[in-house]
Amino acid sequence: MTLPESDCARPAAQQAVLEAVPKQLYIGGQWRAGAGGETLAVENPATGETIARVADATPQDALDALGAAHDAWSGDWRQSAPRERSDILRRAYDAVVSRTDELALLMTLEMGKPLAESEAEIAYAASFLRWYAEEAVRADGRFAMHEAGAGRLMTMKQPVGPCVFITPWNFPLAMGTRKIGPAIAAGGTMVAKPAKLTPLSMLMLARILEDAGLPKGVLNVITASSSGSVMEPLIRDPRTRKLSFTGSTEVGRALIEQSAEQILNVSMELGGNAPFLVFDDADVDDAVAGAVVAKMRNIGEACTAANRFHVARPIAAEFADKLAAKMGAMKIGPGIQAGVEVGPLIDAKQLGKVAELVDDAVAKGARVLCGGERVDGPGHFYPPTVLTDVPDDARLLAEEIFGPVAPIRAFDSEAEAIAAANDTQFGLVAYVYTADLKRALRVCERIETGMIGLNQGVVSNAGAPFGGVKQSGIGREGGPEGIEEYLETKYVAIATK
Ligand code: NAP
Repeated sequence: MTLPESDCARPAAQQAVLEAVPKQLYIGGQWRAGAGGETLAVENPATGETIARVADATPQDALDALGAAHDAWSGDWRQSAPRERSDILRRAYDAVVSRTDELALLMTLEMGKPLAESEAEIAYAASFLRWYAEEAVRADGRFAMHEAGAGRLMTMKQPVGPCVFITPWNFPLAMGTRKIGPAIAAGGTMVAKPAKLTPLSMLMLARILEDAGLPKGVLNVITASSSGSVMEPLIRDPRTRKLSFTGSTEVGRALIEQSAEQILNVSMELGGNAPFLVFDDADVDDAVAGAVVAKMRNIGEACTAANRFHVARPIAAEFADKLAAKMGAMKIGPGIQAGVEVGPLIDAKQLGKVAELVDDAVAKGARVLCGGERVDGPGHFYPPTVLTDVPDDARLLAEEIFGPVAPIRAFDSEAEAIAAANDTQFGLVAYVYTADLKRALRVCERIETGMIGLNQGVVSNAGAPFGGVKQSGIGREGGPEGIEEYLETKYVAIATK
């Protein structure tokens, strides 16, 4: 399969946004080169071309960043007025929104997703800055009478302390603001490390927060080619009080082990294997529309991506045909081109993994309704693919696909559907389509995930607690729960006699 020639859209605009990005480390309010003087290349996944080089931090640079976060923590910041923190976040929100076009183009260049999806991520990322601008002034404690009458119980909320943030490449801005927003609101300080594949959006965010008046040292950003050796000393350093990580379960598990040394407060947003259930009373067209969103958002490279479709047998063939018609018609190409709905996968490794999972399912008997064949390079493109008759032992039912592939299986009873949904070590999100209210509540209660999309294919919302159970994570981001991750509760026992 080959793609139409790229029209190399808007070269001058591309160059301008790339030039505007700071390429250095942001430590203690200073932009500086890495101590080793090295840089790392950032590639455009649609072309394989290097679009920028950013500083490659050494472990000592990372420790300097933690030192800056610790100094800022030891200073006035934690006692700063909540309204001051709120105003900084609000100014940053306004700036991000007003610069949507520029930030979206930058994101598409480094990550590959179509421009419309980058614009949606900018809005989503900004919404955390606004939400936590509003929450900053609402972190309160409580006051109560001792149950015996004499004495009072008072609790106060205090910032957790210097934090370390590690974020993935699939949502380069939103995974940052989902941590940085509530941490600033709570009065914490932080070192943030974006993925080496997509560091540019986070560097721009740091510049925007600097311009919004964030004091020196509150946010420090390091970019590094060797994340393990650069981050481990921070996680084991007694000055760090909190680790918040978004990424794979495998890396999360290793980071939890490292965090055990200092008994760190940890938040983990890890991998998923989302089931998408369609019962026979559901509106099939509605379910297909939701399935396209749940599967194809971010080219399938989302922890929330529907990973497997379990459909009631009487409607399974109709659902599969309609989904294949919609997904098969989606336009593939570089995300900067107008009308493109499916951009490239992030790199050759991810492309190879998706192709391998499809080939494994097909070799075991799955039937291809659309796609299923690699697209010629340059770039790491894989077409939207729908598979039916997927056998039990196909690897893509158990593993996170992270690509535009929809495997469909039929079920015969509600109990079978629930058992299939729960047959995984992951528990991030599930999607349920049914018109029967009683069934909807029954199924929602029995599914073992942190989130459920009920008759809708997207759950992400700054006002809601995002997170998983089982091996999908610990803690919640977003909503009132999100700021709690950055607050400690102190209890004061007060004598009144
Ligand atoms: P990843 O390989 O686990 O990487 C995530 C981050 O961890 C990157 O910044 C990476 O840096 C860093 N990292 C890798 N190894 C490390 C180590 N030994 N020590 C310290 N840091 C390390 O995951 P990914 O491939 O970027 O992202 C995809 C995964 O993220 C999927 O499993 C997806 O489900 C999950 N995810 C979960 C959520 C959620 O909210 N639950 C949201 C988005 C994504 P480098 O890449 O620079 O090495």
